[in-house]
Amino acid sequence: MKQGVIYIILIVFILGLAIGSFLNVCIYRIPRGESISYPPSHCTNCKNRIKPYDLIPLISYVVLKGKCRYCGEKISIRYPLTELFTGIIFVCLYFKYGLTIEFIKFALLSSTLVVIGFIDHDTTDIYDSTIISGLVFGIIFLGINLYFGLPIKTYLLGALVGGGFISIIILLVGGMGWGDAELLALCGLFVGAKLMTLILLLSVIVGGITGGGLILLKKKNRKDYIPFGPSIVIAAILTVLLGEKILDWYFTSLIF
Ligand SMILES: [Zn+2]
Repeated sequence: MKQGVIYIILIVFILGLAIGSFLNVCIYRIPRGESISYPPSHCTNCKNRIKPYDLIPLISYVVLKGKCRYCGEKISIRYPLTELFTGIIFVCLYFKYGLTIEFIKFALLSSTLVVIGFIDHDTTDIYDSTIISGLVFGIIFLGINLYFGLPIKTYLLGALVGGGFISIIILLVGGMGWGDAELLALCGLFVGAKLMTLILLLSVIVGGITGGGLILLKKKNRKDYIPFGPSIVIAAILTVLLGEKILDWYFTSLIF
């Protein structure tokens, strides 16, 4: 690999870590109704403001050994993992799309999805503000496509298929929330109709595996509500990164 490329990968990874750090703030504050920009980062236990040198993604967690510098309160391992996860997604997106508009588009979608997935996991709620920001990003990219004379029909259809499918399930059998329908419509707006069908299929598989696993491990019982949002998010991120490969593999193994 050329040295220049290695630098770019490193920069993309660091950008992902920094965005991941911001996503942690969103995941914590949005359900609490707090502003995501003010006040600056502080310990949730002792309220001490966190110094910039303690806000370096991944590294600060290791240096502080996962504890607040002032009160020693444990910092959840989820914070550095979210940063790492976002960094890895960004690098994978770079490998797939290079430094293109597609990269920005799917980096924005993935970031929005990480926030929605974690908040739904924590609160079993999908917040309107997160869906609306995602939709705004999606509409901007539709505008860009229109400007360059690129197709937009498939994206509108993708949103309709995703949102419509879950709406029908909700009306007929229930068990899912309108937030799930909105989330799938949002994904469809970014990936288009063809990959939307894959997201639907994968989210049912991921949901089945995680739901079954949680019941087997006795973390949940059959009557518990298990949020479906995280499964949709995992399915959508897998589809964004590997969708065409999965479809190719599926259709070749179907023929032979
Ligand atoms: Zn503290």
